[in-house]
Amino acid sequence: MPDASFISFTGVSKSYDGVHYVVEDLNLDVRKGEFLSLLGPSGSGKTTTLMMLAGFESPTQGEIRLDGKRLDDKPPHLRDIGMVFQNYALFPHLTIAENVAFPLSVRHVSRADQKARVKRALEMIELPHLANRRPSQLSGGQQQRVALARALVFEPSVVLMDEPLGALDKRLRETMQYEIMRLHRELSLTIVYVTHDQAEALTMSDRVAVFSDGRIQQAATPGELYENAQNAFVANFVGENNGLIGRVASASDEWATLALADGNIIRGRCEPGLTEGDEAMLALRPERAHIPSAEGSHVDEHSNVVRARVEELVYCGDHHRVHLKLGTRDNLVVKLPNTQRHALPADGSTVDVAWRHDDCKILAMSASISVSTPLSSTPSSTSITTPATAGAN
Ligand code: ADP
Ligand code: MG
Repeated sequence: MPDASFISFTGVSKSYDGVHYVVEDLNLDVRKGEFLSLLGPSGSGKTTTLMMLAGFESPTQGEIRLDGKRLDDKPPHLRDIGMVFQNYALFPHLTIAENVAFPLSVRHVSRADQKARVKRALEMIELPHLANRRPSQLSGGQQQRVALARALVFEPSVVLMDEPLGALDKRLRETMQYEIMRLHRELSLTIVYVTHDQAEALTMSDRVAVFSDGRIQQAATPGELYENAQNAFVANFVGENNGLIGRVASASDEWATLALADGNIIRGRCEPGLTEGDEAMLALRPERAHIPSAEGSHVDEHSNVVRARVEELVYCGDHHRVHLKLGTRDNLVVKLPNTQRHALPADGSTVDVAWRHDDCKILAMSASISVSTPLSSTPSSTSITTPATAGAN
C-alpha cells in the first residue's frame, strides 16, 4: 500500500484570497522512489502545490498524506522533507560546511555525526575541497550543488525541488540534470520536481503531472504524454505539435474524423467523449508526417494524405523543417530527417503530406479553463511550437 501512494494529495484546493482557487481539486499519488515532475506554465500552481507539501502553505480543502500519515498540522521542519530552491538560499555568513551542517544542527545531531555526514554529502557533490569557503566564493553551479547537499544531508524521505536549475546556463543545467538523476538513482530518493521546461521534465522524470490553471491536465510517463496526450493543452505544451483546429465529423471511443477549415477530412485516434460537431484539434508531431515524393515512398490506406504548398525549407543539421500551407489558413510543419537520398521539395511547390492514422490524435480543446481562475490565460490551441520557454517565470 505505501508503495502505491507514498505521498498522496486528495481533493486538495488552495485559495490565497478566499475568492479564486490557484490549485483546484488536486488528486495525485507519488510512489516511494519515484521522480515526479510538476510541469506547467508560470502561474499554474506548481509552487503552491510544492509549498503545501513542504508545509509552508496549508490547503484550503483536501488532505495531504506522507507515508499514510496526514501532514496538516506538522510544521515544515518535522516533515522529513528536503528542499532545493532556484535561488540556492544558502546562508552567506556561513561556510559551505556550516551551510550543509545546518539541517543537522537544527535536528540536534551530535557534532561528530554532523562532521561525518557533512563530509559524505560534500563528497557526493564532489566539492569536499571547498568546505571552508563562503557561498559568494562559489560559482552558481557550485552553490546549487551545495544547496543539493544541504537538502540531502539529513537523509529525508522526500526531496522537493522548485526550478532548481532555472538560474543556470544551458550547459551547466544539463550537467546538473544528470547529477540530480544520479543522486535520485543511487540514494533511492523520492523527488517532486517543479519545472516549466518540458524538455527537462521529459528527460529527468519517471512521471510528469502537467499543470494548467491550477489543475492537473494529465499525469503520465514522459513517453505516454508525448505519444498519447489526452487534451489539446498537453499536446501543445509537451513537445512540438501541429495543432490544426477543425470540427469533429464522426467519433467513436477510439477513432474520430476531423473536418479541417480547407475541407480535408483527417482520421486519427481519440479519447472517449468526443461528439460530432465539437471543435477539436488535430495533434500531429512534425516528425510523424512525411512527404512521400521526397522519400520515394508510397502511401497506404491507413494514412491521411493532404495537399499542401511548400512555404519554406529550413536546414537544421540533422533534419530539415518544411513549413507548408494547407488551404489558406492552416500551417503545417514537417520534419524530414537528413538522410534522404531523394530531392527535397522545392519552395512554392505543391506536395502530398502523409501520416498514419494511428500517428495522430483528434483531441478535445482543453475543457479545464475554469471561471474561478480568471488571472490565467487560455492556452493557444493553434500554436505549433511549445509555449514552454515563453512561460518562464
Ligand atoms: P507556478 O509555480 O506554477 O508559477 P504559483 O503556485 O507560484 O505558480 O502561483 C499560482 C497562482 O497563485 C498565481 O496566480 C500566483 O500569483 C498566486 N500566488 C502564489 N503565491 C501567492 C501568495 N503567497 N499570495 C497570493 N497569491 C499567490
Ligand atoms: Mg513557481
